[in-house]
Parts: sequence; structure tokens; C-alpha cells
Amino acid sequence: MARQIEIPEVITVGVLAEKLSLPSTRLIAELMKNGVFATVNEKIDFDTATIITGELGLDIELTHQQAANAGPAKKVLDISDSAPSRPPVVAVMGHVDHGKTSLLDYIRTANTAAKEAGGITQHISAYQIKKGDRSITFLDTPGHEAFAALREHGAGLTDVAIIVVAADDGIKPQSLEAIRFARKAGVKMIIAVNKIDKEGANVALIKQQLAEQNLLVEEWGGDTVIVEVSAKTGQGVDQLIDMVLLVSDVEDLRADVEVDGEGLVIESHMEAGKGPVAEVLVQRGTLRLGDFVVAGSTYAKVRLLQATNGTDIKVATPSTPAIIGGFKALPEFGDEFKVVGNEKVARQIAETNAIQKKSNNDTLGMSGTELIRLINRKTELQELNVIVKADVQGSLTSVIDSLKTIDTEEVAMRIVGTGVGAVSENDVLKAASSGAIIYGFQVEISSAVKRLAQRDKVSIRLFRVIYELLDDAKNELSDLLAPEVIETEVGRLLVRGIFKTSKNEVICGGELTKGPVALPVLAKIYRGDDVLAAEVTVTNLKRGSQDVKEVQENEMCGLSFTTDQKVLLAEGDRIEFFKREIKERSL
Ligand code: GDP
Repeated sequence: MARQIEIPEVITVGVLAEKLSLPSTRLIAELMKNGVFATVNEKIDFDTATIITGELGLDIELTHQQAANAGPAKKVLDISDSAPSRPPVVAVMGHVDHGKTSLLDYIRTANTAAKEAGGITQHISAYQIKKGDRSITFLDTPGHEAFAALREHGAGLTDVAIIVVAADDGIKPQSLEAIRFARKAGVKMIIAVNKIDKEGANVALIKQQLAEQNLLVEEWGGDTVIVEVSAKTGQGVDQLIDMVLLVSDVEDLRADVEVDGEGLVIESHMEAGKGPVAEVLVQRGTLRLGDFVVAGSTYAKVRLLQATNGTDIKVATPSTPAIIGGFKALPEFGDEFKVVGNEKVARQIAETNAIQKKSNNDTLGMSGTELIRLINRKTELQELNVIVKADVQGSLTSVIDSLKTIDTEEVAMRIVGTGVGAVSENDVLKAASSGAIIYGFQVEISSAVKRLAQRDKVSIRLFRVIYELLDDAKNELSDLLAPEVIETEVGRLLVRGIFKTSKNEVICGGELTKGPVALPVLAKIYRGDDVLAAEVTVTNLKRGSQDVKEVQENEMCGLSFTTDQKVLLAEGDRIEFFKREIKERSL
């Protein structure tokens, strides 16, 4: 019977290699064969680990240590009963080289009118097609990063995920990742079995592999929608589009149109003659030429409104991607945008958002996810892969020995290759596959190797003095050290009155028993010894009716804070203000 090894939902390549008693290079190579480019410190998920273990022919069965469930991250927008139906928004995902880009290109060229002269920008990341009198919006960024990034921004942006699986290659790690993404996000899946024009296409095998993931096709009694297509010949693409519409009908996708437009920035860039330009996807309501729009910490009077094929439009309704010009500054990917009444309101909201963002930057230094990543990082040994080349064996040995002396419990060098002689093309290829830095001591590199290194983004560092080499390595390792997170209490307030409590904002007032407190600042909220909220962001301070940046000890003041969850504040509760500093450490 296969030996069982427990692993968590995500695991670093290095740790998995250890558990499997394999050199990590072997695992990295196998992952590469499967189109996953991961270095030793990168994390892969359970399914990928299982597939790779299988492909390595190891007699080992991986089992779940604990099931992590992120749950669906769809943001629910209010919908009235009379809201009309809206087009579906479709993302295309799947394993590398299975044909995502080809499929998106085929659908676009076959279904959209030829571009207007000079119209199309190079940055388009969504497009809309028509089928009869119906529209479908495709996110034109194949791959998982875009999808994951959008999801991270809480956007229930995608309604349908087309998962492309090449008929001659079958289900691969990124296909599984795509399936899992779609499941977690609670979006409908359509499996597009692509490349059916090719010899060696084996649809039956894919159905079998899908069944192993509990995705049973209809003929086997399940409800998994599968369409056979060829992005090369176009075969089946029409059926695929029909299927997208059918699946969307079941979902009953609707959104209000008679309200102010709102949605998400999905791309932004500077354009010659136009200034900051943003591509947005309207999720709800109507966006009109001439509207005032806030997006993150900037705003616009919409002077330019275009469809993504470059044609001017007057309005954009739900599920429509549109290009907006007229912003004061570049909004960011993932910023929410909203139509507001006039320029004054637009400016005020943008300024408040800017303060809040600055407060996040100053006090947090980084986003919540980054922080979690850093805190997690603390518990694991971080390794830096290096390849060492030296002129003679003697100096090679002393470089390696000295490098080992700078290892600590948290960070260490992992020497993945060594050798005597000039840095070779082979060294560069090896460094590229393992994410290593190449240290050369008293050696040269040819221009061919230099070019290859540039192409593969491999860093080669040449030294003639060993201390300089060690200093450089120390700096690199220091960068891997998790920074210290320092929280300092700066003030306290006794709550005397609550003026407004909404889902994620509270406005209250009270007496500052310890101070001074200045914006930006974070706070914890206590009732007696109980923590009501572990972290809220203070967005505004008031003395009387006046907004102020700072309040002094013993003053009465008002304040607003935003929270992730509803906080039912009561008189007598205590607010403790704190600042958070992220301090880089060095070896
Ligand atoms: P992506 O990495 O998933 O975006 O894959 P691409 O769209 O770049 O396609 C990878 C390769 O497969 C390219 O060489 C395409 O020409 C080829 N390809 C894509 N779809 C088909 C298809 O339906 N039939 C055939 N024969 N080749 C295809």
C-alpha cells in the first residue's frame, strides 16, 4: 500500500521535497515539465502536489492536513426586483499552452467589428461580443493572476469561467487550480476541451479526469458542461458561446440600470494626448459621458467614454467594459469607481480615500494580505538559492564555507550548484529554473552568457574580493528576513455617544483620556476586557463640527472609523489608538 504523507493545503516546494525525501531540484524540474515555474520557496497547492507526486511515480499518497476554505469572495451588490438582465462576464482560465489566448483571439476577431482607425488601445483587458441581440463580456486577460487579483479585490466580477483543457494534453495542475478558483468564487464553469482538431485528441480521457475531480459530464449523470472546440479552426466556438448564454440564463444575472454607475477599474495607463485613461467594468447602474466619477483617490469628469473597440459611446450599462478619460491622476487596478453628483463631492471622496490609503501605507506599510504573508513567513526558514563559480577549487571552497557562516535560523543560503571556471550557459539555465543568483569569484563571463542571463532575468554577480561577495550575499539574505511589526499605543478614548452605525462605518464621540491622537491612526475597541474589534481604521477626527488632524488629551472629540465587520458600539466602550510600524531588519 502507498505510504501516506500529510501535507497542508499549500506547501512550499522545499518543504514538500523534504517530506518526499527528494532533492528540491528534482521537484522543481518536474513542476517545470508541467508548466509550473516555482522556486524552492514558492508555495504550491495540494492538488498540484498530488499530481506531481503521481508523475514522479512515487508510491506515496498525499493526504490533507487540514481543509482550508476561503469561501466564496463574491461581493453582493444590491439588486432591486425590477432590475433588468445583464450580460455575463466571462473569464478564460486553464493550463499554459492549452489555448486560452488563441480562444480569446478567435472569439474576438470572429465576433467584433473591425477596429476603428486608431481606436483600439493596446491595453484592452476586456471586450464585448454580440450574439443575436445578446452580449457577452470577456475578460481579455487569460490566466489566473488577473482572476485571482480581481477576486482579491472582493469583486464578484466574473459570472462564468471557461476552463480551457487541451484535448491532447488532458487535465494539468493549472487546470485544477482554475477549477478550484472557480469553485471557491462560486462561478459557473464551462470546460472547453480545445485542440480537438489535433491528432491525439482524447476527449474521453478528459471526461474521466474530470470525473476524478467530481465533475461528471451530463452523459455520465452529472451537470458539468463540456464543449469541444478548436481555437484554430473555430469548430465548436459557436456552441461554446451559446453555452455561456445558456448557463447565464440559469443564473438569472441582473443589475439595476437606473442608478448611478459603479464598478471596478480593471486597467489604467497614460495615453499620449489623453492623459490618464482607465478601463472600467460597470457592475451596476449607468455611466454617462460628462458624469463625475471617483475611483480610489482620484476623480474624473468623464470627458472621453469609449467602448473597448475605440468607438465613442454616450452611456455604459452593467457588465459593459468602457474606457474613461478625464482623470486627474491614474486610478489603480482594482479601485472601485462610482458616479457622484458633482465635482465637489468627487474631490472630497477622492481626498478622503487618499488619506485612508496614506494611513494604510504609513501605519501598515502594506496591504493586509502582504502583512499576513510576512507574518507567515516568520515561521518558515527562508532560503536563497545560489550558484557559486570560482577560478580554482581552493577559492571555491572558501567562498562556499564563508557563505555558510552567514546562515541564521530564519534565513539561509541553499547552494544549488558550484563549479570551477567561467560562468556558463548551463549555469544560467540552472539559475533560471531554480530562481538562483550566480556568484562568480575571480571569474569572467562571455557576452553570449551575459545575453542569455539578461533574457532569462538571471542575476550574475562577479567579485574579486571575498568580503564584498559576502556583503552582497548578506544584503540578499537580509531582504528575506521578515520585518518586525511594532505596534505602539498612542491614545485612549472613552465613548460618550454614538451618532451613526452602518455596516462598515461608525461615527462616535467621547473624551480623549490619553493623547494626543493624530491621523492617520488605527484603533482597537474594548468593552471591559473584551475586544469588540481588533483593528479599525480611523478616518476622521472632529473637534466640535470642525475636521481636525489632531486632538489633545482631555479634549472631547468626534471620530469616524471604518471596519470589516459591523461594530455595535455602546456608551462606556473604550477605544485604544495605535500606530503600526514595519521595521526592516538586517543581518
Ligand atoms: P495559452 O498559453 O493557454 O494562452 O495558449 P495559446 O493560445 O498561446 O496556445 C498555445 C499553442 O497552442 C499555440 O501554438 C497555438 O497556436 C496552439 N493552439 C491553440 N489552440 C489550438 C487548437 O485548437 N488547435 C491547434 N492545433 N493548436 C492550437
